[in-house]
Formats: sequence, C-alpha cells, structure tokens
Amino acid sequence: MDQLRFDGRVAVVTGAGGGLGKAYALLLGSRGAKVVVNDLGGARDGVGKSNFADAVVKEIKDKGGVAVADYNNVIEGDKIIKTAIDNFGRIDILINNAGILRDKSFTKMSEQDWDLIQAVHLKGAFKTTHAAWEYFRKQKYGRVIMTSSNAGIFGNFGQANYSAAKLGLVGLANTLSIEGAKYNIKVNTIVPTAASRLTEDILPPEMFEAMKPDLIAPVVAYMAHESFPDNGAIIDSTLAYATKTHFVRGNGAPLKKKPSDPVTIESVKENWSNVVDMNGAVHVDKIADVTIDLVQKLQNFEERA
Ligand code: NAD
Repeated sequence: MDQLRFDGRVAVVTGAGGGLGKAYALLLGSRGAKVVVNDLGGARDGVGKSNFADAVVKEIKDKGGVAVADYNNVIEGDKIIKTAIDNFGRIDILINNAGILRDKSFTKMSEQDWDLIQAVHLKGAFKTTHAAWEYFRKQKYGRVIMTSSNAGIFGNFGQANYSAAKLGLVGLANTLSIEGAKYNIKVNTIVPTAASRLTEDILPPEMFEAMKPDLIAPVVAYMAHESFPDNGAIIDSTLAYATKTHFVRGNGAPLKKKPSDPVTIESVKENWSNVVDMNGAVHVDKIADVTIDLVQKLQNFEERA
C-alpha cells in the first residue's frame, strides 16, 4: 500500500508534550503534516505550567519535520488555532487530546474538581473545535478527533467528573459529525488505553510496559487522514488492537395491553422485562430513525388491538 501522507496538511494536537499526544504529533510530523504541538505543561491534576512541548517540536524538526510549540491552556483553545493560522496559514486536523485527572469518590469530590475536569476536557474541546470550525467550513475539509475513555462509556469508580466529561465529548462528536458532514468535516472519537502518567498507578506494571502510545498513534493518524471512511465513529484502541463501540437500542415493548388501556405504574412493572430485553437491539444511525421506529410501533400496536 502507498504510504499515507499528510503533506500540505496542518495539524493541531492538544496536550502533545507527552503521552499519547506526543506519539500522535511525532507520527503526523514524520508523514509530512505541519504540527502545532500544544501543551500547557502542568501536572496530571492540572496544576502548574511549563514548556515541555519544546522537546517534541525539537524531535519533529530533528527528523526533518515542521512543527511549532504552543503553551496555551485548551480552555483558551481559540489561541491554539490562532497559532496554527499565524504560523502555517491553515488548519486541517484537530486532535483534542489534552487531559487531566482529579479522581475522587463522589462524596469527596469538590465542585472545583468537577469544574476543572469539565473545563479542560469538554470546554477545551469546544473552544478549539469552535475556532477551527469556520476554517473547516470555508475550505470544505476538516478532520477532528475527540478523546473519550472507557471510564466515560462504562463508568469507573472515583471518576464521576472525568466520566461525565468524556461521555460529553461523545455527544459533542455525535452532533458535530452531523453538522460537519456536508462540508467534508469528519468528527470521530478515539478511546485509548495506553501507558502514560495518567495510567502509571492504574495499569498493572506488565501491562503498562506493553501498552505503548505508539501502538495507538497509527489508528489516530488514520482517523485524521483524508481517506478515513467513517464519521461519528467511536474507535477503541490499545495494544495494537482496535474496535468500534456504539450504542444499541432495544426493541422495546408496549406498556399496556390495548390502546384504550391506561398506562399505570403497575402496567409498566408488568411489561418491564420486555422493555429491557435487548434481544434484537440495533444501532440507530440518526435521531429521525428513533421517531420513525416509534411511530411504526405505535401503528402496529393499534392495528393489532
Ligand atoms: P498525559 O498526561 O501524558 O497527556 C496529557 C497532556 O495534556 C499532558 O502533556 C498535559 O500537560 C496536557 N494538558 C493537560 N491539561 C491541559 C490544558 N488545559 N491545556 C493544554 N494541555 C493540557 O496523558 P495521556 O494518557 O497521554 O492522555 C491523553 C488523553 O487521553 C487525555 O484526554 C486522557 O484523558 C485520554 N485517555 C487516556 C487513557 C490512557 O489509558 N492513557 C485512557 C482513556 C483516555
């Protein structure tokens, strides 16, 4: 297969000073993209700042690539997009990767722990994507990657703030993939599991050793490529493996026997095992399909009665 390249493309990778973002930036830089290496450079709980994006920029340049460092906080994500425009005149790829943790059981979670996590993950992705969107629309091209987490999709003890933000990013991607489609803007979500400072005390040591961010970078780079076929997909990747995650919707069941019957708490209880039966559950592509399905079921129910 011909090498997939990014010549002429400008990529912004947030939180690219270390971990997964660094692996993404290095790979894109080695394949011809001009890269904005953004990183605030704080600790894993979001405190402090430093210029550790510089080392990644140096590594890209030493290998013959083109990159510029950006130290802005994603909460001011518009400034990061400005760095791309000021230095390279355009923006084609946006990888919303920056992230922090404030893990605590819900009882111990302060409002500040909640707000900061929402601000960095969710508001940060909003700010960068919103600023890039006008360029994507004008040039009829854009690739956006959101970064979610299995903690968001399935829940995880001690991560109420993080789970909420990470699933929020899936919701954001769902709608943006619809709004961007006619402008050839594709918005997809990566769910990574990799060794980084965020997981060093979570993953068992032998797994930590094996779960290199480099194994996920090719998946994310393909998702950022013009030839990537999917839009609105959630791609879960770790250990040189990738899969797709999506929500399914059950067939459901009527909550009463005849159309003329009332719906009561008791009739809901009576029908509950059918309501939550997931046999024959299907993925719903668009919200209109939910409405069509409901209308159809209602008609069938009334005809049967
Ligand atoms: P990491 O800590 O190595 O990288 C995150 C980077 O984001 C850091 O370099 C940090 O300085 C930067 N950052 C944090 N807040 C920022 C801000 N406000 N503005 C700009 N930069 C900021 O961790 P990682 O594991 O590489 O995480 C990357 C992303 O992947 C995060 O969004 C994380 O939630 C997500 N994720 C990681 C895993 C995993 O297994 N490592 C699992 C699920 C999700």
